[in-house]
Amino acid sequence: MDKTEKKRRILKITGLIVAAAGLAAAIAGFADMGVSVANGSFPRLFFLLIIGLPCLAIGGMIAMFGFRAGLIKSAVRDITPAVKELTEAVSPFAEEPVEILCPRCKAVNRSDSVFCYKCGAALCRTCPECGKTAEPEDEYCTRCGRKL
Ligand SMILES: [Zn+2]
Ligand SMILES: [Zn+2]
Repeated sequence: MDKTEKKRRILKITGLIVAAAGLAAAIAGFADMGVSVANGSFPRLFFLLIIGLPCLAIGGMIAMFGFRAGLIKSAVRDITPAVKELTEAVSPFAEEPVEILCPRCKAVNRSDSVFCYKCGAALCRTCPECGKTAEPEDEYCTRCGRKL
C-alpha cells in the first residue's frame, strides 16, 4: 500500500467515524428536543443537534474526498476524452461548419455569419411571430407557419 492509498484510507475512515458520530449526536439531540417539547421542559441535549449536524456534514465531506481522490486519479485519463467528445457533441460551437447560401447574391457564407460578406444581406432571420430562427431561403416559419 503506497502513501496516498494510506492517506485516502485514513480520510475515508475518519470521515465515516465523524459522520457516524455526528449522526448519532444529531439523532440524540433531535429526540431529546422532541421529548422536551412534549414535556414542556428545556431540551438539555439540544447542543448535540447543533454539534451533530455540522459533524455529519464535515464527516461526509471528508469521507467523500477520500473515496473520490482515488476515483478521480484513475478515471481522469478515461473520462477526459469522453468529456471532450461529449462537449463537442452538445456544443453548438463545435459543430461542423455549415455554409449559408446568401438569398440575394448566392455567395457562400461561413456558418457563423449573420450578414453576407459580399452584399450585406441578412442571413439569419427570426420569425416575428414565434421567434424561431429561420433559414435565409425559408418563405414560411417552420414552427408556426407565418409568412416571413
Ligand atoms: Zn449576398
Ligand atoms: Zn414562427
